[in-house]
Order: sequence, then C-alpha cells, then structure tokens
Amino acid sequence: MDIPRYWRLRNQRYHLQGAKCEQCGQLYFPPRAVCPACKSRSMSAYRFKGTGRVYSHSLLYQTSDRFEGQAPYVVAIVELEEGVRVTAQLTDVDVDEVAVGMPVEMVVRKIYEEGDAGPIVYGYKFRPLFTRQD
Ligand SMILES: [Zn+2]
Repeated sequence: MDIPRYWRLRNQRYHLQGAKCEQCGQLYFPPRAVCPACKSRSMSAYRFKGTGRVYSHSLLYQTSDRFEGQAPYVVAIVELEEGVRVTAQLTDVDVDEVAVGMPVEMVVRKIYEEGDAGPIVYGYKFRPLFTRQD
C-alpha cells in the first residue's frame, strides 16, 4: 500500500470523519454529499471528537449471524458532543453498567475490505470513556 493511501485510510479508520454543510452549518455522520436540510452540495469534511453520552439503550438477545457469540449486547443511541445522534453497539462494557448519560467514546473498526481497490466497510462502536487505554 502506498503512503498517501495508507494515511487516507488511517484518517477514516481512527477518526470520526463526518461532513459539515457550508451553507447552513448542519453536521452529519456519516458524511453526505448533499445536505438534506438545505440541499446544498458544498459539504466539507468535519472531524467529530468521537465522544458523547448514551441517549438511550436497549439490550439485545437475538442476533444476526454476524454477531453470533456476542449476545446479549447493547445497542445505544449516542448523542455526540456536537449534538448529532448515532446508533451503535456498545463494546467493552458490562451490560448492567450501561446507563443513560454515560460518557462514551467511539471506536471505529474495519469489518471487511473488498479487494485491494474496493470499498472498505466500517463498523463503529462506542465504549465507556473510563476504559480508555491510550
Ligand atoms: Zn445545509
């Protein structure tokens, strides 16, 4: 892999890259090419901090094949510091400890890559802020 490609992908994997509408200032994650609010196409990259709080959560016992072996697991709506809400699985957490308002941070993980030049599919999860190791 060449260096520019490496850094570009690294940026997507380890930072929460969304979009900001230059017209109305609305923030989006995942990024959009056209602003749904004002139809503007002048979108710029916006890096979210990746921290927020649990807005609501539910414990899931039924899983698809992809998540087999992980049940039960918690899916939460997380409100990012910037005010954007995202739905994601919580990870590295005791299901009994999950509470509304709990501070969390995003971890972005690659799920699979379709060939060398193909699209990369990401999965993002949130973990409690207090487990941060780095
Ligand atoms: Zn807009």
